[in-house]
Amino acid sequence: MKPTPDPRAVLTEELLRKFDTPGPRYTSYPTADRFAESFGPADAVRVLEARRQGSSTAPLSLYVHIPFCESLCYYCACNKIITKHHERATEYLDALETELALVVESLGTGRPVSQLHFGGGSPTFLSDAELARVMQALSTAFRLTADSEVSIEVDPRTVTPTRLAHLRQLGFNRLSFGVQDFDIKVQEAVHRVQPFEMVRELMTSARELGFVSINADLIYGLPKQTPETFARTVRQMGELRPDRIALYAYAHLPERFKPQRRVAATDLPSAPQRIAMLGDAIAGFLSRDYCYIGMDHFALPDDSLAVAKREGRLHRNFQGYSTQPDCDLVALGVSAIGRVGAAYYQNAKTLSAYYDSLGQRLLPVVRGYSLTRDDELRRDVIMALMCQGRLEFEPIERAHGVTMADYFSHELESMRAMAQSGLVEMEERAIQVTAPGWFLVRAIAMVFDRHLQSAKERHQFSKVV
Ligand code: SF4
Repeated sequence: MKPTPDPRAVLTEELLRKFDTPGPRYTSYPTADRFAESFGPADAVRVLEARRQGSSTAPLSLYVHIPFCESLCYYCACNKIITKHHERATEYLDALETELALVVESLGTGRPVSQLHFGGGSPTFLSDAELARVMQALSTAFRLTADSEVSIEVDPRTVTPTRLAHLRQLGFNRLSFGVQDFDIKVQEAVHRVQPFEMVRELMTSARELGFVSINADLIYGLPKQTPETFARTVRQMGELRPDRIALYAYAHLPERFKPQRRVAATDLPSAPQRIAMLGDAIAGFLSRDYCYIGMDHFALPDDSLAVAKREGRLHRNFQGYSTQPDCDLVALGVSAIGRVGAAYYQNAKTLSAYYDSLGQRLLPVVRGYSLTRDDELRRDVIMALMCQGRLEFEPIERAHGVTMADYFSHELESMRAMAQSGLVEMEERAIQVTAPGWFLVRAIAMVFDRHLQSAKERHQFSKVV
């Protein structure tokens, strides 16, 4: 693979004007905005039962959403509930157990699970005893495989080394720390103060406790950030040496995400500053031996994500890049999104609707989507571009019974325009994303998205850079 270039050198103004348009991150295809309310609890039961009766013995992926956070981060775009009332967790866990029982009723007990992820909100809002309760319920309902990846998002302000030891005891083997930025002015501007020393102590403990992989999230484009302050954050993060780093671009969409209305637009860095920050961060991580995985992910060379990238085995799911093949994903909790077979489904977004459904012993599914054959074909195309950076025509034609040149004549025309801009190389029977093209890989994938027709639809997404 060619080395990753410095984005400051390759992302010219012309390229950005042409291709830095709002677009999805493609953690699914079609994206969640396509889900329809005509898909409800009975449909979810049907897909779960079909999986039980089907021939698939592949392990499942499991996602558990814990929506609570103690305090609001102003950049937040997640589905969360801000509360200091920890007792609210009890009612939630009761409901979660009811949901689990209903899922198992349709899916069968003891199904193998190779990937379990706790996200939120802040899963570490739960006490040690509450986390133990959820893990106990899950391990009764499912069977975690010996090599399973068991991960949890950690808000550094809610844990101590002792709590991390408890997580390890419960079977968690991966941690993801929400860091965002180490600069105090930025932390104050986003209402999330957590000193560098706090994160350093936790990461050191996590290593001593034997967590297999430690991830840290950073965000560029936040209020009060400058290329200078962010370069210092990147250096500090490099010193901590987490196995994986996710570097997200802040998308300021205050009309969609209410917390962001507390961010003063005048405090936001300019577009050239954002590109400088992205460039500095990429250059900084590469110089510290991190591999660029794609979009916004970096990993140390011996981390399984970097190995999978080198071997062309990367996948993508709702948590981003993954080493696990495309497993069915069972999602539990308010607003959680699952995917079983050829269907996606999402739970109620409010606690009251979530509790109401479960009170009637109905799965709390409020919308979903059954993929058509065209969707399945396009999903394979988009995931090949996003994960491998290469679209080979032959396997797609074989799997879907189409001729690429005919089926995608219009899209291939657009690819030729992208080739002229240096984002892809067109081969006789393949499309290769170039090293500069990786920075705009979403824009490349968007060409094959049948649902993303109008500019209005695009504008609900964030920009690529
Ligand atoms: S960013 Fe995370 S911790 Fe902060 S409010 Fe949102 S969900 Fe909670």
